[in-house]
Amino acid sequence: METYEHLVKNESTARKYLLGFCFKNQQRFCPRCRSRSFTKLGDGRRRCKRCEYLYHDFSGRWINLSRLAPDQWLRVVKLFELELPASVIARQAGVAYNTAHRVVTLLRMAILAHGEDAPSLLPIMMGPGGPLSRGGRQGSGGSWEDPVFGLTSRDGEVVIQVIPGCKAEDLLGSAAEKGRHGNVLCAERFEAYDSILYSGFNHLAVGHGKNHPGGRDHVNGLEGFWSFAKERLMRHHGISGRFFPLYLKELEFRYNHRQQALFDQLCRFLCGFVPPSV
Ligand SMILES: [Zn+2]
Repeated sequence: METYEHLVKNESTARKYLLGFCFKNQQRFCPRCRSRSFTKLGDGRRRCKRCEYLYHDFSGRWINLSRLAPDQWLRVVKLFELELPASVIARQAGVAYNTAHRVVTLLRMAILAHGEDAPSLLPIMMGPGGPLSRGGRQGSGGSWEDPVFGLTSRDGEVVIQVIPGCKAEDLLGSAAEKGRHGNVLCAERFEAYDSILYSGFNHLAVGHGKNHPGGRDHVNGLEGFWSFAKERLMRHHGISGRFFPLYLKELEFRYNHRQQALFDQLCRFLCGFVPPSV
């Protein structure tokens, strides 16, 4: 077992480690058609013999959406595992704040992409006004809508799922009218879910809904998650609505794996393919 210090010793050891999550036995294949047949070019890239696609080691994967060197990526993953804020990650990994913020967002996106509701959530998150879009103001003319999330407990794990076709205002009518728009709400009205988390466009403060569920056995498991999530959300002093789903899915992941080391798992997610529809 190689130590973390060894992995980040230089770019080459870090690259080798990350490639282990990309290709079994270092056997390269085309990210577009999966063919193992290629011509190696002088610059390190490969040309697929079947579809002619030119690719390099990390083509098509989340890790490729940033120019960070492999050893820098591993440092960021380690600091993210330790739940340090982007400003500290920037300083300790030796990158600009904007870079740290973007790569941490990519990590969260990779976590979200491995969740069971990724097919419905990912297109929203990658669309106009989403966390990775540059320049555009949030919510301006894009397809973004406030997503509503249901929170359930299944086999001892917490599951947060986007509820398609639901509007927070409809579900939480009276609460929303009372000016709670933009807060985290916890309600028990929606029959399929034990609780509902709702994010608006405004910056979020963490609130605890008055309808907080209690007294029913299957809800008790969620209590632990709620205090876990609340403490962490508080540290951010308000989260922009468009980032909220990313934080929720990160919390779900952290909570369900809270007894485990997350480093390898995060590297594996980072080396996963970005879905073609994105
Ligand atoms: Zn190909």
